[in-house]
Amino acid sequence: MSAQEIRGKPIADAVKEEVKAATEELARRDVVPRFVSIMVGDDPGVQFYVRSQAKAAADVGIEYELRELASETSEEALTTLVTELNADPTATAVMLQVPVPEHIDQRRIQEVVAPEKDVDALSPVNQGLMLLNRARLVPATAAAVMALVKSTGRPLEGAEATIVGRSEVAGKPSALLLMAEHCTPTMCHTRTRDLGEHTRRADILVVAAGQPDLVTGEMIRPGAVVIDVGINMVDGRMVGDVHYESASEVAGRITPVPGGVGPVTVAMLMQNVVRATQWQQERS
Ligand code: NAP
Repeated sequence: MSAQEIRGKPIADAVKEEVKAATEELARRDVVPRFVSIMVGDDPGVQFYVRSQAKAAADVGIEYELRELASETSEEALTTLVTELNADPTATAVMLQVPVPEHIDQRRIQEVVAPEKDVDALSPVNQGLMLLNRARLVPATAAAVMALVKSTGRPLEGAEATIVGRSEVAGKPSALLLMAEHCTPTMCHTRTRDLGEHTRRADILVVAAGQPDLVTGEMIRPGAVVIDVGINMVDGRMVGDVHYESASEVAGRITPVPGGVGPVTVAMLMQNVVRATQWQQERS
């Protein structure tokens, strides 16, 4: 069997069309979503990510402002900035780009972002609402995973879903969202005894570990939907966490890297900016 690829671009384009329609609707009420992105230091990965955010924002009618701070910026100064942005009604979305320099505790800053501006969805309120199945904003990567899974049209109710990785941005929220769709999720991580035992059971396999080639073809159930979240640079080439060649011999559907989860994640982040803006409008 040779798996059919799940391409991210058409899904990302459809999401961006919806976001654009929503920003046009907001513009009719003189509301302009403004996304303030905070970057501390000059991590190359962050620089790549903010460029793609700026481009996506321009495509859909969102104002994008990048605040570039020196790597020696203190946690206190960063907290003050976020607090000021929370109080600024023209800043409708606020996000701290990570990684940040080691002397900054990113969780503490993310907890300061007002929930209704928290487009990363990492504040305790947004994480809690997700746990309660009442999410207003969900982490963009997990939203992308769900959109890619749903695009296959596979029935989710009762499906076995294995998620490799338990981060707050990817693995954990993907498991919650899949469970909300009545999948039976299994979470795997570095202490999991036999990874293959769990991945081979999966109708839907989500891999978000940051380990190139962690999952190979013999670890996949024939016909499964495989979503590869991983982004790894190996010999100057971007690869996922799934060994694509062997996996695509066995899987039914599979996302490529690059070109799978990545573009959809950026589109979902823009969707969060609009949702955050709408949330603030309801409150004003
Ligand atoms: P993370 O915070 O480093 O978490 C990695 C998770 O994978 C951890 O839970 C870890 O387990 C688990 N893990 C690592 N090695 C493993 C192994 N050998 N076996 C089983 N589990 C293992 O990473 P993240 O932020 O979730 O990102 C994961 C990957 O996705 C990275 O490559 C990142 O660049 C990529 N990513 C892509 C997008 C996108 O838009 N495409 C967005 C976000 C992230 P422990 O908890 O036990 O340590």
